[in-house]
Amino acid sequence: MIPSTEIDNGLPLDMVIFGGMGDLAMRKLMPALYMAYLHGNLPATTRILSTGRQDFDRDAYLAHVGEHSRSFISAANFNEKTWDGFLKLLEYVRLDVQAAPSFGALAQASRAGAQRVFYLSTAPTLFTTICDKLAAAGLVDAHSRVVLEKPLGHDLPSAIEINEAVGKHFAESQIYRIDHYLGKETVQNLMVLRFGNSILEPLWRAPNISSVQITVAEEIGVGSRAGFYDSTGAMRDMLQNHLLQLLCIVAMEPPTSLNADAVRDEKLKVLRSLRRFTLADIARDTIRGQYTHGVSGNQEVPGYLEEKNVPADSKTETFVALRAHVDTWRWSKVPFYLRTGKRMQRRSSKIVVEFANPPFPLFPDAPGGVANRLVIELQPEEAIKLQIMAKQPGTGMQMQQVTLNLDLQSAFQQRRAEAYERLLIDVVRGRLTHFMRRDELEAAWAWADPIIEGWGTLGEKPHAYAAGSWGPAESFALLARDGFAWVE
Ligand code: NAP
Repeated sequence: MIPSTEIDNGLPLDMVIFGGMGDLAMRKLMPALYMAYLHGNLPATTRILSTGRQDFDRDAYLAHVGEHSRSFISAANFNEKTWDGFLKLLEYVRLDVQAAPSFGALAQASRAGAQRVFYLSTAPTLFTTICDKLAAAGLVDAHSRVVLEKPLGHDLPSAIEINEAVGKHFAESQIYRIDHYLGKETVQNLMVLRFGNSILEPLWRAPNISSVQITVAEEIGVGSRAGFYDSTGAMRDMLQNHLLQLLCIVAMEPPTSLNADAVRDEKLKVLRSLRRFTLADIARDTIRGQYTHGVSGNQEVPGYLEEKNVPADSKTETFVALRAHVDTWRWSKVPFYLRTGKRMQRRSSKIVVEFANPPFPLFPDAPGGVANRLVIELQPEEAIKLQIMAKQPGTGMQMQQVTLNLDLQSAFQQRRAEAYERLLIDVVRGRLTHFMRRDELEAAWAWADPIIEGWGTLGEKPHAYAAGSWGPAESFALLARDGFAWVE
């Protein structure tokens, strides 16, 4: 339990959730808020005002939360009395943000002088209206904060448009752009691993590091999101945001402090150092894929083109792999291989840092391949492993790969909070370090847009890969060409 002075700034907290009946609110936000409440990480004065268009009264809303959210809290954490206490924080405000002439009903429900956190868990097309109407109702002041869910734009101009619309009413220091990968314990731990130890940092550069791989593989297909997904694709949905954010944490220079802007300045430098792709680079160094019928989780599943609401001639990529470069002294000539896809063999997200092999093969029986790797696993389990060579016991000098497991689960007794819980607590405490700043977001789009446009110019169909595989063969060839291989 943390001391309440750390979370209480003297103002009552009104957390207003737009899209309070939606999928994200039910599956992630409510369970995260419950957990924060359970562990004393919400100010005692907290109230949660959920908004939605349904004609519900408070009881009907609480029943909805019970039905759709409760099951996402593990049995070990569920406690009837705490749940009842949590429900007491909830209010429901019926509000159609487009149709309502004003947000008078919300203004009435929110307490005068409260610190207001607005969580915009709706389609971004509603962000402008929401922010304009919040301001017109006098609900935005210097204490207010706004949390923005992805997708934050479709390209650079649309991202700028969102930023301008929100920025009209909120200062940058009041805006929390969520990328839940930055809320993961292991990702935050990577910063400590790199900058809290002196042994890694001297090695953390070319030519000691020979390559970096970042994989975010999903087992699921597009499911009910097909309508949205078909105009989005893997590049916009995953790579431009989550994978680039992970790349930033791997590649950034040590910040001068843990101050949010000091950290975000360094991430921005990485994004600005990403080499721009020419059309020839796109043709050579990017692979788009689209899943076909296959077997996933022991079940036959349809291909992307057979999914409901997907046009039969869709060229949308459900997989992308590419070779990127960060053009700085530290990363000169080090390839960064990024890969993400749906309907992959299994859900797995990891960062693999491969170190250069020893310059001279002293041991004749050395197994081939890469001697040293740091593997940071993010999903399904979080773990950090260091692969090194060791001598096999015996009279000879045979080498074998062994893994030093920095087993975070057993090293620490403390509970590991879910990303959304951790990030929501950061919002409540006003910590911006793990949220994207406007210039970061725009720099990421400025890098991604020409690649997406280049694909349009080239006009090629994505490569087919069977659902339940690790993606198209061309993605393996991308690394094999440089003498590397994906680490599954
Ligand atoms: P969703 O289930 O479709 O929920 C959207 C919410 O927006 C609904 O509660 C809906 O209210 C509300 N809404 C729509 N039009 C409205 C209006 N005119 N006035 C007031 N409310 C309105 O979507 P979601 O999956 O929760 O996602 C919300 C946002 O988060 C999206 O931008 C999505 O891309 C993003 N996101 C979602 C996830 C996820 O896991 N679901 C993950 C990352 C990001 P009604 O209940 O009244 O229809």
